[in-house]
Amino acid sequence: MVQEVAEETEGPYYVPVGNEVEVFAAAYDAGLSVMLKGPTGCGKTRFVEFMAHRFGVGLNTVSCHEDITASDLLGRHVLQGGDTVWVDGPMTRSVREGSLCYLDEIVEARQDTIVAIHPLADHRRELSLERLGGQRVEAAAGFGLVVSYNPGYQSVLKDLKVSTRQRMVAIELGFPPAELEREIVLHETGATDSTVDELITLAGAIRRLDDFGLREVASTRTLIAAGALASAGLSTRDAAMAAMVGPLTDDPLITEGLTSVVDTYIGG
Ligand code: ADP
Repeated sequence: MVQEVAEETEGPYYVPVGNEVEVFAAAYDAGLSVMLKGPTGCGKTRFVEFMAHRFGVGLNTVSCHEDITASDLLGRHVLQGGDTVWVDGPMTRSVREGSLCYLDEIVEARQDTIVAIHPLADHRRELSLERLGGQRVEAAAGFGLVVSYNPGYQSVLKDLKVSTRQRMVAIELGFPPAELEREIVLHETGATDSTVDELITLAGAIRRLDDFGLREVASTRTLIAAGALASAGLSTRDAAMAAMVGPLTDDPLITEGLTSVVDTYIGG
């Protein structure tokens, strides 16, 4: 019980990699929106959770995809027992309550949805709810807008418009350097020092593979999954194959190449 309370006050575990905490805090104090760029599984979501806790505000997260509409973010009328009632979407909730709103993988959303954030992302900091007759909702103190995306996935079609980008402060996150990543994987899994060392070395080797046809490389998240499998009793090799190689590709030739990398770096 005592431990639970201690964990709650400590907040989410996050190891800063550069000056991201300072930049985010300065942007938040100045009422500016934040754009987090970085590969999948590098810690963007954990960072936002950490910052929300640090600011002492809540967090509404939306995982964006192409079917998300502006109404999903802003709110809509729904039928409740024969009556039509308005239900705020997560973005409107954050605006009213003064919390962080995090739009994960924003480039997956369609343009007409993305433009809904413009008035919030600039100095106006207010929403206009067309479906409530244009009702304006000014952002309460504490509100902050954060979006994230993976620049590695960008296609011309899916890039963020300049008009959206210029409303934001950019913070680039990458995979933590080996020493920090080691600390993180040890903290997040029950794996032994030697297992984590092998996994970190393997991740480094996979990340250095150029022209291997990989869409993405082994992330901190996959390292943590491999560490968890090893700590559940799998051999380091099996854990690495299942959590770090398998998810990366379906191509038999690439899998073969990656398997030989695993065999080079992981003994037994
Ligand atoms: P993303 O949102 O970029 O896809 P996540 O925030 O979900 O990635 O990160 C995946 C996992 O990696 C987290 O659950 C956390 O365990 C770990 N992690 C990554 N970077 C860090 C970090 N700097 N400090 C603490 N944990 C981290």
